[in-house]
Amino acid sequence: MPTMSLPIPKIEGPVCLDAESCFLLSVAQKVSMIDENLLKVLNSFRREICMEIPLRKDNGTLITVKAYRVQHNNARGPYKGGFRIHQRVDLDEVRMLANLMTWKTAVVNVPFGGAKGGIAIDPSTLTKTELERLVRAYTYNLADNVGPHTDIPAPDVNTGGQTMAWFYDEYAKSHTINALGVVTGKPVGLGGSEGREEATGRGVMYTLREIAKDLKMDLSKSKVLVEGFGNVGYWAAKLIKDELNGKIVGVSSSKGGIYNPNGIDVDAAHKYYTKNKTLKGFPNADFMTCEEFLTADCDVLIPSALEGSIDKRVADKTKAQVILEGANGPITSEANEILIDKQRVVAPGILANAGGVLVSYFEWVQNLQQFYWTRDEVNKKHERIIVAAYENVRDVSRKNKISLRQAAYTIGMERVAQACILRGTGF
Ligand code: GLU
Repeated sequence: MPTMSLPIPKIEGPVCLDAESCFLLSVAQKVSMIDENLLKVLNSFRREICMEIPLRKDNGTLITVKAYRVQHNNARGPYKGGFRIHQRVDLDEVRMLANLMTWKTAVVNVPFGGAKGGIAIDPSTLTKTELERLVRAYTYNLADNVGPHTDIPAPDVNTGGQTMAWFYDEYAKSHTINALGVVTGKPVGLGGSEGREEATGRGVMYTLREIAKDLKMDLSKSKVLVEGFGNVGYWAAKLIKDELNGKIVGVSSSKGGIYNPNGIDVDAAHKYYTKNKTLKGFPNADFMTCEEFLTADCDVLIPSALEGSIDKRVADKTKAQVILEGANGPITSEANEILIDKQRVVAPGILANAGGVLVSYFEWVQNLQQFYWTRDEVNKKHERIIVAAYENVRDVSRKNKISLRQAAYTIGMERVAQACILRGTGF
């Protein structure tokens, strides 16, 4: 299979703790607009909010839960980014994810900056009423620092339409004027946009379709493996199968994956997973551990779970020629280097999973205008913007003989740098 851009230079940069910021630094140093002073600005975070939320459990006991919102950069518009609920959340993770949002919104050229939030608890240990109290308390604590023109949260890992509805309601209690745009990813019955729920997976699907065209790859004959069966993984797998006639040979959750070289019925697997909370026992497929799954035979791999799942070991063994980051930061920097050496085509998350924030932007526009679009209008606009963003990234990658990741960061950084420069010093 032909590779997209040859040769791909190795990423160089100073030794630093966080792989992603190390990589960013190395790209930023090559963007001519970015001088030493601007680099300091792009490397810093405008605001970091840390809280410890007292939560009354249904049985009357009280626990405290750590939670965060990090606002990285708003040179191009209000801060934007989801919030997650997961036991692994900490300040460093939220920082890294906020940083990614700044470049992601810039790559698809929506007028937002970058932010991210997180609540550090395993949501499966909470009842629905406890979860609601927690989300409302989180919102209440953030109420002065978010808003339709300030910072607009959205769904992320373990959060969705219901979480956003609670967020909106809690915020609207103290901010009554046209507050719908304070949060995106709301249910359609409460100011949400048609097509938002599937948007991240749809963006992954469009990106894969364009890459496959460029590589002259027949998706109906290629084996596609999707790691993670949450919102992104499920919709990516379903749409690749339904709209591209792609063969999904495996899907997985945090407990392991199922594999069948002849293809998996994605909808049946999703029904089974929703009912049983595991994929184990799904008929006509082999059940595998997460590591076995990630290194199973495939042509396309779509990591759509948490950060760091594609590490050195997986990168060494994977057979995938094309990897699309459905999740944020699933490939470690060591793994990235191995994949570059092996000349694999890697679509970075700031492009491949940007469909979510793109349709969040559509939702925000509809909320502000109070004029709503059909699903067809949303999908057409979505497709046009993601395809244009991909073509831009691909062209920069070919022209400069750099990886798609480097090209995407270069484009994002140039746009953010330009806005910072235009707005003047003190930014
Ligand atoms: N959490 C999603 C992301 O990482 C969506 C963010 C948004 O819609 O603001 O891109």
